[in-house]
Amino acid sequence: MYANAARKSKKIAIQLMIGPGQMEKFSENEIVERLDFSLEALEPDELILSIHEDYGDLARKIVEHCGGKNVNVSLWTMVFADRAASLSRLPLVRDFKGREGYGAIAAWNGMGKGDEKFLFCCPSAMLDDDKGILRAVEAAQEIGAQGVFLDRIRYPSPANGLEYLGACSCSACTKAFYRDNGMDWPDLVREMVNWAAYGREGAVKFRNAFKLAREFRAKMVATAVSRYSEAVHGAGLRVGLDLLAPALSDIVGQDYALLSRNADFIKPMLYCKASAPAGLPLEFRLLMEGLSRSGVETSRARQFVAELSGIEDEHLKAVQLGGSFPAGLAASQMSRAKREADGRNDHRADVYAGIELVDHEDYATKIDEAARDAYLEALSRENIALCWNILYIPRNHIMAVAKLRKDFQ
Ligand SMILES: [Zn+2]
Repeated sequence: MYANAARKSKKIAIQLMIGPGQMEKFSENEIVERLDFSLEALEPDELILSIHEDYGDLARKIVEHCGGKNVNVSLWTMVFADRAASLSRLPLVRDFKGREGYGAIAAWNGMGKGDEKFLFCCPSAMLDDDKGILRAVEAAQEIGAQGVFLDRIRYPSPANGLEYLGACSCSACTKAFYRDNGMDWPDLVREMVNWAAYGREGAVKFRNAFKLAREFRAKMVATAVSRYSEAVHGAGLRVGLDLLAPALSDIVGQDYALLSRNADFIKPMLYCKASAPAGLPLEFRLLMEGLSRSGVETSRARQFVAELSGIEDEHLKAVQLGGSFPAGLAASQMSRAKREADGRNDHRADVYAGIELVDHEDYATKIDEAARDAYLEALSRENIALCWNILYIPRNHIMAVAKLRKDFQ
């Protein structure tokens, strides 16, 4: 039995990311102190740890601290994008015109800046990623972690630009699709734009007409992930998965049922405020903007997206005008995640609602106390994950989460 499995009904996960920037800003002692504060206050079940391989001693020290408090550590590993520099570069996904890179239609303007490049590898190429898989397992073992947490397991999202929502159109992927289905790979983006002109009705038609292509994308991601999972489980380690919210999952090729089968826990990213990739306001604003810029009338674009995502029209309207989503959306997305993750097997992965509580100048996200309390109230009966770096989560937020959990035990 894994640590903490039955200690309390609702679980907490925290994330800690340590790169050169953090090593410059904090001393090792400060990092460990901040971690210890969270371990004491929150008594989490999981720590998701991203740490550069140069800092092995610090990593082992962190794992030791967690072990003393019965906290499982999973080494946070980037799979399709932002891969470790030590791994060989794999071919990138291609849009329908065969291009690599970022799209020009409503791509996020922070794309390619900073550490996060968000250039996604082709899922066919990922099937030859033995080196990446081996490294993920070895790196976790080297620091004594209990698991591997897989992130960036998907196709590009709207933040990469509308053009890449139909990836991958490389010859390996299109041949594989032809072999499976006896038909040519469709231009999903053009079809999406055409059908979006018909609003909700168009979304239903689009979804049905391109079922095979959507399922193919989901299968490609799930296959790559299951190869990682097999190796990680084979080494006696646990598997965690970072997933986009269910409202976005179909658009990026993530099938909760398929993916959760091979996972011990999953973390849907239910960021209702974050203006960053995977953040729901940014992703949906850009998706609607991409369709509008491609000639779809604004309200039709919104209705099309409402039907595709299952998000209410009024909430999308607020986002179209530059606002964010209410915390209630995180709760409804969490219910959907649990429903879809339960899938068709008797194995049940733990599901953590990922919420963003960071306050840092590099992130265009500031969660004030009202926003935090709205999240905590909406998710009071759920496992939650405090994303995405405990170093930048203010202590008053940590204490508020700790208090709420105590009240509910
Ligand atoms: Zn491809």
